[in-house]
Amino acid sequence: MDHKDLSFNASCVHLGELEDPIYKGAVSPLYMSSSYAYEDVDIKRYPRYFNTPNQEALAKKIAGLEHCEAGLIFGSGMAAISTSMLAFLSAGDHVVLQNTLYGGTYNFIKEEFERFGIQYTFTNGLGIADFKAAIQKNTKLIYIETPSNPLLTITDLAGIASLSKEAGVVSMIDNTFASPVNQNPADFGIDIILHSATKYMGGHSDICAGAVAASQTHIDQIFRLAKNLGGSLSDYTVWLLERSIKTMGIRVAAHNQNALDMALYLQDHPRVSKVYYPGLESHPDHALAASQMKGFGGMLSFELEEGLDAAAFQKALQLIKPSMSLAGVESTLLSPTLTSHALLGAEERAKQGIADGLIRFSVGIEESIHLKQDIDQAIAAIS
Ligand SMILES: *Cc1c(COP(=O)(O)O)cnc(C)c1O
Repeated sequence: MDHKDLSFNASCVHLGELEDPIYKGAVSPLYMSSSYAYEDVDIKRYPRYFNTPNQEALAKKIAGLEHCEAGLIFGSGMAAISTSMLAFLSAGDHVVLQNTLYGGTYNFIKEEFERFGIQYTFTNGLGIADFKAAIQKNTKLIYIETPSNPLLTITDLAGIASLSKEAGVVSMIDNTFASPVNQNPADFGIDIILHSATKYMGGHSDICAGAVAASQTHIDQIFRLAKNLGGSLSDYTVWLLERSIKTMGIRVAAHNQNALDMALYLQDHPRVSKVYYPGLESHPDHALAASQMKGFGGMLSFELEEGLDAAAFQKALQLIKPSMSLAGVESTLLSPTLTSHALLGAEERAKQGIADGLIRFSVGIEESIHLKQDIDQAIAAIS
């Protein structure tokens, strides 16, 4: 059977898997060698060349799940993001960046680009006209993130893809929040798909990894830099990540359902003033989200009513854990003002619409009745 024809969950389980010809084990054997014979072989295998048997197998799986020709696995999401961006940028080049990016990506740009002579512009908004207005003669790359952190804004994938083609630049997306279960940007013409595999791909808050999927030509260009920067992932973690991805389809389906349930609940909650979730009809980009996403994801944000203290709320929770990371099977939440967006300052936060009472909620797979009870008791405790 051609594994290309498998449907989603079957692909999660089988795509790219390695056979165990000797013992006929059910799962991919783990090859831990960092040294491979170089005589009489075509391929020089080495972990930092991203081409050990397990690395290649997992890259095939992720590329297939993202409807791309090829992929590479990295030691973290930021290794995948930084390597992929730098692979297309030299001194004097310019990049157009969505104005709401993951904090680590924002820091990478703010702290590193200037001394490498790379110019950049953050868009003023998320409309295609905002991106178009930011393009310059020396622009080489448009970089987006949808849904975005923490307000779950939606960027038009097809619009960005055609704008990029028109301008002759590469388009790149951080697809972490959606995961390949909910969104395949390549289907809309986006060139390069990035993931923090630490999140929904890993899914259990016990793996740090990253991935990129794209055409073979683009992957070749990223690989040339990747082998020099050396951000590859150890084979043991590669093997664990392969195992995690086998259940990604059913996990993310559960996250989707729970998040919608919680969004509807919070929307009607008397002490919650706002809910941001692309699956809600009240979300300003709901129609756009529905046109490019297969599910709306496990991330949402909500604002506590004025007078309810976000820090006290976090402390009063008994089941949901305050945590910087996200996308695990367990529910976690954080206050962007106190954590991820603290360095932005009050003025910039206000400009981006991040209120002090905002809570970013990574909805886990626990039955939602427990999550509702926990939020209710925490609000009651601090009222
Ligand atoms: C976590 C995250 C990253 C960074 O990934 P690491 O694995 O922590 O390096 C990038 N983008 C998004 C959207 C993330 O949530």
